[in-house]
Amino acid sequence: MPHFVDPSPAGVCIFCRIVQGEIPSAKVYEDALTIAFMDLGQVNPGHVLVATKRHAANIFEITDEESAAVMQTARKVALAAKIAFEPAGLTLLQANGAEGGQTVAHFHLHVVPRHADDGVSFSWPRKEPGGAVLEGYALQLRNAMLSESVPVAA
Ligand code: 5GP
Ligand code: ZN
Repeated sequence: MPHFVDPSPAGVCIFCRIVQGEIPSAKVYEDALTIAFMDLGQVNPGHVLVATKRHAANIFEITDEESAAVMQTARKVALAAKIAFEPAGLTLLQANGAEGGQTVAHFHLHVVPRHADDGVSFSWPRKEPGGAVLEGYALQLRNAMLSESVPVAA
């Protein structure tokens, strides 16, 4: 993962400037809430970023409507990538905060076509703490879901 971070505020961050057409991008798709454009880094050919049009730094700042729209656009892009690049697999990746691997603080989802031995790796340190610990974590989350900041089911 790259290590620079763009902390620019709403309206002047790199992706806001791409949304506004102030800096160039190779655009794939846009609708009312989302924009999809080629990632500069191209981890594999066809690597696309799907971003919200509105500036929101991360998953904690987007609306339910934006989150649904981003996933719908990502699926369109994934289906197109499957036709255009014939990948053996495809990975969706979405990072939040520097510690989460995010370098541009404007919400976006990576759509990455994947191939055997393509060099992409993600360390995944499994802990397997056992059923009782899992139940405890689930209880913590169920309680947290009662918080006002978590949307209730439609
Ligand atoms: P993150 O690390 O935040 O999940 O992903 C940020 C991504 O934005 C990186 O993969 C990087 O290549 C891409 N990126 C950074 N600046 C630009 C830019 O100016 N134009 C485009 N198209 N992509 C960018
Ligand atoms: Zn922005």
